[in-house]
Amino acid sequence: MNETYDVIIIGAGPAGLAAAIYAGRAKLRTLVIEADAEGGQIITTDEIANYPGAFPPESGHSLIGRMSEQARSFGAEFVSGTVDSVSFDVDPKTVRCGEKEYTAKSVIVAAGAHPAKIGCPGEDRLTGAGVSYCATCDGPFFEGYPVFVVGGGDASVEEAMYLTKFASKVTIIHRRDSLRAAKSIQEKAFANKKIFFRYNTVVDELEGEDQLESMILRNLTDGSRVRISGQFGLFVFIGTKPNTAVYDGVLEMKNGFIVADEEMRTSVPGVFAAGDARVKSLRQVVTAVADGAIAAVSAEKYLDER
Ligand code: NAP
Repeated sequence: MNETYDVIIIGAGPAGLAAAIYAGRAKLRTLVIEADAEGGQIITTDEIANYPGAFPPESGHSLIGRMSEQARSFGAEFVSGTVDSVSFDVDPKTVRCGEKEYTAKSVIVAAGAHPAKIGCPGEDRLTGAGVSYCATCDGPFFEGYPVFVVGGGDASVEEAMYLTKFASKVTIIHRRDSLRAAKSIQEKAFANKKIFFRYNTVVDELEGEDQLESMILRNLTDGSRVRISGQFGLFVFIGTKPNTAVYDGVLEMKNGFIVADEEMRTSVPGVFAAGDARVKSLRQVVTAVADGAIAAVSAEKYLDER
């Protein structure tokens, strides 16, 4: 018979790992379920500059490696699996990954988010074949070639700067007439001679059968379209979407994000949410780990009181 855990943590990004550290240290029987590589979105970040105590060359990979080791040292168990359905209105609560079923007295949803897509023709087909959402993973493939970056926020400008390490030239394509990124980040980009800008522009179509060969850009001011051809890469950084489809109709949500209070309690008793998947104003590693710690302490309280 399967063991019933005190807490199941869904997601092993910074929020889930922090929750696992706190839950494990509180001696709760803890299971962490992760669909992909541990670390979530931060695993692809080359340099973490603003997490307190992290100094370059701290990367997402190095920080996550230590968090994971710490969670394991406190007894948290880890399994790999994609959660495809949950039953939170039963006791114990049930989490299913395909044929596998896990049960626990409480659950922390730290499922994170994934990169938003442009949604233009050719994007899905050419992902991994010239189109990327991860500069750290794919930047080195474009050594000496031009690359384009879509977006105007902090992520696009920071990743554009990182890509100048490899690319001959980096052009940021932004749909507005000015960037949205923090001024300090913008200034660095403006000073970088390898970075160019195409404002008021969107990507209409990506072309190529099994490799990106060309793309059609549209100028939003005059409607003109231009085809860019040759060997180049396209990196997309236009925000994130929460990994919450499974919880639709199960937990209270707002615009696809899980609603949780300051104690990370969701609309269902014994179910907590932490990190990028929940409604919040600042999505950073520092806020994710804080959420994770609070969620674990709240789960512990819930277990004590039930
Ligand atoms: P973001 O701030 O939401 O910016 C997304 C950008 O993509 C915006 O410029 C937006 O344009 C554009 N965009 C959205 N949908 C688009 C579409 N369909 N087609 C073309 N462009 C589209 O997202 P982010 O840059 O990923 O940042 C997310 C969060 O992480 C932010 O809170 C950010 O501060 C944080 N972050 C911080 C750092 C740092 O502190 N160093 C680094 C990376 C990320 P509009 O401007 O027109 O809306």
